[in-house]
Amino acid sequence: MTEKLYDNDSHLKEFGATVIECYEKADGYFTILDRTAFFPEGGGQPSDTGYLDDVRVYDVREKDGVIYHYTTKQLEVGKKITGTIDFERRFDFMQQHTGEHIISGIVNSLYGYNNVGFHLSETEMTMDFDGMLTRENLIEIERQANEVIYRNAKINCYYPENLKDLEYRSKLDLQSGVRIVEIEDCDSCACCAPHVNSASEIGIIKILDFAKNKGGIRIWAVCGRRALKDYNNRYFNDLEISALLCSPQNEIAAAVKKQLENIESLKYQIGGLKKRIIESFAKTYKVEGQISAVFQDGFDIKDLQSLADSLYKEYGGIRAVFSGSEGEYSFAICGDAEKLDAWFKEFKGRLTVRGGGRNGMVQGTVQNTKGEILGVINELD
Ligand SMILES: [Zn+2]
Repeated sequence: MTEKLYDNDSHLKEFGATVIECYEKADGYFTILDRTAFFPEGGGQPSDTGYLDDVRVYDVREKDGVIYHYTTKQLEVGKKITGTIDFERRFDFMQQHTGEHIISGIVNSLYGYNNVGFHLSETEMTMDFDGMLTRENLIEIERQANEVIYRNAKINCYYPENLKDLEYRSKLDLQSGVRIVEIEDCDSCACCAPHVNSASEIGIIKILDFAKNKGGIRIWAVCGRRALKDYNNRYFNDLEISALLCSPQNEIAAAVKKQLENIESLKYQIGGLKKRIIESFAKTYKVEGQISAVFQDGFDIKDLQSLADSLYKEYGGIRAVFSGSEGEYSFAICGDAEKLDAWFKEFKGRLTVRGGGRNGMVQGTVQNTKGEILGVINELD
């Protein structure tokens, strides 16, 4: 068994220990110490990293009470070493993890839902609950969670002698060796990981997002330094948007809405102008015979419909307009409803056509060459 120094002192950054065992494995060495402040992965919290003297510890695991430090070099058995953990990383994990306990405790006491999943990485924290919450619920949960920070609730981690009569949240039904993480007047939960000593160390708890998840909800949240980093990202984004829109930072949503309305109105105006241009454009076409085809570059379906309609109104007959490239043309065709239906049936039968329509207008795509299309049109004239 390795003595777990992190159990009693979650803020211990440096410690002395003796190497008990060290043996080679596939990608480095397993080093066992008599005591350690390195937390092995557990309770959803990633393992610590750091150094044993100048040897890198890149992962830590626990098996049957023994803690295995994954080191890059071999350490001499019996050697007295100084262990140093990457405390900034550990502190970040503790800020997130204790924040998670506070949120889970509040969710449990307000709504009776259980935390059924917890994921913590260097970039993301999620927690899953077995019931659904609304945005309004989450705003209230977040408010209460931050109140726990303002009153600087004390956090006590201990191994109780008697589990009987003790009320606590737990994912597993453990009978012995249960470590309790107690947040004063907020939560009590079985957890093996190191936590901050008091809620004020968390700084802030911010819920970022949520989604339905297996009949319940998944919540994304950030705490402490991560929350400040997130705030700064958003702040610089807002700052840029506010400069681009010449709008005060707290009014950028309204400014964006206004811009979108402007775009919609411009689109409408452009549509009207295009239609008028196409109508007068139609008059300049030299159209011969009862059936004609025009190939036009860069027309979207609305333009095609507009030109086919204008040509039909101007010259009658059946007027087809195509745009696209060889083998991939879009089209719109206008004509007298009954005649067009019969003609289009033939046209469809001879080429690779997808589409249809009614009331004197058909549209779609044709996967043939210009030559093939014109050949069929001449044949059907
Ligand atoms: Zn925990």
